[in-house]
Amino acid sequence: MNCSAASDSQERSLKSFQEMAGRKVLIVYAHQEPKSFNGSLKRVAVEELSKQGCSVMVSDLYAMQFEPRATRNDIVGCLHNSEEFNYGMETLEAYKRGGLSSDLIEEQKKVQEADLMIFQFPLYWFSMPAIMKGWMDRVLVPGFAHEFPNCYDSGLLKNKLALFSFTTGGSEEMYAKGGINGDIRYLLWPMQHGIMHFCGVKVLAPHICFAPEYVSEEKRKEILIAWAQRLRTLWNEEPIICSPEWYFK
Ligand SMILES: Cc1cc2nc3c(=O)[nH]c(=O)nc-3n(C[C@H](O)[C@H](O)[C@H](O)COP(=O)(O)OP(=O)(O)OC[C@H]3O[C@@H](n4cnc5c(N)ncnc54)[C@H](O)[C@@H]3O)c2cc1C
Repeated sequence: MNCSAASDSQERSLKSFQEMAGRKVLIVYAHQEPKSFNGSLKRVAVEELSKQGCSVMVSDLYAMQFEPRATRNDIVGCLHNSEEFNYGMETLEAYKRGGLSSDLIEEQKKVQEADLMIFQFPLYWFSMPAIMKGWMDRVLVPGFAHEFPNCYDSGLLKNKLALFSFTTGGSEEMYAKGGINGDIRYLLWPMQHGIMHFCGVKVLAPHICFAPEYVSEEKRKEILIAWAQRLRTLWNEEPIICSPEWYFK
C-alpha cells in the first residue's frame, strides 16, 4: 500500500469510528447464567460495541428479576375503567398520564435512547424465553411503541434498529428447509414482523448460533469471533424485509 492509500484508509476508519461513536445500543439479555454461551455472546457485544465508541445499556432480565406478567400492578393510581380491566387500554391511558410502574418507565427510557436494540437469548419452545416475552408485553405498550394506525412502517419506534441474536439446541441441519424442525425463518415471523416491525423498528438479519452445547470448544470460540466480526460492520448493514412473499407460499 502506498502512503496516500494508507492515509485514505486511516481517514475512512476514523470517519467510520466517528459515525459509530455516540450511537446507543440497548442489549436485552435473557439467560440465568453469566457463564453460559449467551452470557459470552452478550459480553462480546458489550466489549465490541464499547470499543467502537457506542454507549451500551444492558437489561439483564433474570438479574433484574424482571416481572414478566402483564397485570394491574403496571398501572399506578386509578384505573381508567375499574369495572372491567383491559390491559391495552389501561397501559395506553397510564402511559399518557405518566402513570406506568417505575420498572416500565425505566425500560422505556432505555428504548427511547437506543439507536439499536439487540435481543440476546436461548431459543425456548421455538420462541424467546417467557421473561423476554414479558418485556415485550409490558414495555412496548400502546401510546409508547404503537397506536393504531401508527403501526408497521409508521410505528412509533421508527428510526430504531433491532437484531435478534439467539442460540438453539437443534443443529443448523435440523432447522434447514426440509429439516426435522422446519425452516428456522418461520420462527422469526412473530418476533421480527409481529413485534418489532409492528412498532416501526427496522430489523437487521438475525444472528443465530446453532447448538453451542454440542459443538467443540474450538468451534464455540470461532462462533464468538464471528459475532465480534459481524458487530464491527453492523452499522453498514441494511435492514431486512420482515414480511417477504415466501412466508405464505
Ligand atoms: C425451556 C427450554 C425450551 C427449549 N426449547 C428449544 C427449542 O424449541 N428449540 C431448540 O432448538 N432448543 C431449545 N432449547 C435448548 C436451548 O435453546 C439451548 O439449550 C440453548 O440455546 C443453549 O444456549 P446456552 O447459552 O444456554 O448454552 P450453554 O449450555 O450455556 O453453553 C454451551 C457451552 O458453551 C460453553 N461456553 C460458554 N462460554 C464460552 C466461551 N466464551 N468459550 C467457549 N465455550 C463457552 C459453556 O460452558 C457450555 O459448555 C430449550 C431449552 C429450554 C430450557
